[in-house]
Amino acid sequence: MTISDDALRAAQAVNAERLWGRLMRMAEFGARPDGGVDRPCLSAEDQNARAELIGWAEARGYQVSVDRAANLFIRRAGRRDGPAILTGSHMDSQPKGGRFDGIGGVLGGLEALDAISEAGLETDRAIEVVAFTNEEGGRFSPGCTGSMSWSGARDPASFDDLEDENGARYADALNETLSKAPELATRPLGDAPAAYVELHIEQGPVLEEKALQIAAVTGIQGVRWYDVEITGDTAHAGTTPLALRRDAVQAMHRAIAALNALMADPDDVVRFTVGRIEVEPNSPNAVADKARFTIDFRHPDRAVLEQRGNAVEEAVRKAAEPCRAEVRPSLFSDPTHFPEPIVAIIEQAARDLDFSVMRLPSGAFHDALFASQICPTAMIFVPSRNGLSHHPDEYTAPEHMAAGTQVLAATLVDLANGNATV
Ligand SMILES: [Zn+2]
Repeated sequence: MTISDDALRAAQAVNAERLWGRLMRMAEFGARPDGGVDRPCLSAEDQNARAELIGWAEARGYQVSVDRAANLFIRRAGRRDGPAILTGSHMDSQPKGGRFDGIGGVLGGLEALDAISEAGLETDRAIEVVAFTNEEGGRFSPGCTGSMSWSGARDPASFDDLEDENGARYADALNETLSKAPELATRPLGDAPAAYVELHIEQGPVLEEKALQIAAVTGIQGVRWYDVEITGDTAHAGTTPLALRRDAVQAMHRAIAALNALMADPDDVVRFTVGRIEVEPNSPNAVADKARFTIDFRHPDRAVLEQRGNAVEEAVRKAAEPCRAEVRPSLFSDPTHFPEPIVAIIEQAARDLDFSVMRLPSGAFHDALFASQICPTAMIFVPSRNGLSHHPDEYTAPEHMAAGTQVLAATLVDLANGNATV
């Protein structure tokens, strides 16, 4: 046994029913008829979910504060001032999202605080739970604007003019959300914690296939995103000969085919997705003069990301001719490797609590990516049924949520007391 007695007591105080009850309560904010969740960031549903979380936190006497990126922090004080140990995740969902992605890490963090309180423990450092704004990027793209603003990865003002599909501005939605809880204490961006540990569902099939309970996450694969805009000429669908057209939809089709060829990978490690398409004028009897689409390209190897990523623009331009194509990179994130000591602490905590555990890299990106740029960071994964995520049927069993939260609580206590150093 390497975890401390305090860490063990905190883990044993985790209340699986309370955690599950809060998860199901949060799933009501943006509930979809199919059982999933649609909770866009900074929407009324998100604002109501935030209010619920603030209520739970304040009822326990934790200090709640918010920064100008609307990241919400819940602090359980330690014996001394100074950087806290931070945990958390995000509360927004994909449009056809589930009940666990993101919110599981926020509520797992809150349950860890409650367990530590109920075990009667004091910690040396404070422990904080964060709910980061807009991790998903489903309403305002790119995602992780909250954690990027907080970590200093991007200038927060650079997100102000992002628009959602109805033309709402990010800055306006942000200010509206902040105005809903004017009583909250404010805190500066860039307040680096001593360490960050994020609990999250795996969003893949590995843990379930191997019948394991916990993954100590070793890092996050790299990501490149692009926005493509193809411009042609609109024309009458019934009268204009095909040879004379500059049809933006046809050009987009050729461009995507060229990208499929560029991204081909017999080992199936490359992840390449065109997830959003917009067409103008979007009329059944008019040739389109505008076609826009997004590219999401991921790989664990930086060299592959660079080689293929750097070839995207030319492949799209060539294939789109005679239409004009503009390719704008919107996100480039290197593959991340979490530091060995903090990964080892999580792995050992899981063993000491008698959970089966493996090490696993993350295929999805997370707020932890940006946290890792300013402090020692790692993640805990729990199983996703059928590997499903970003899907209404996303499901993680109550005992798995509780197991992940127990590992989290133990890890937070030992980090906060300096029993484990990173
Ligand atoms: Zn997530």
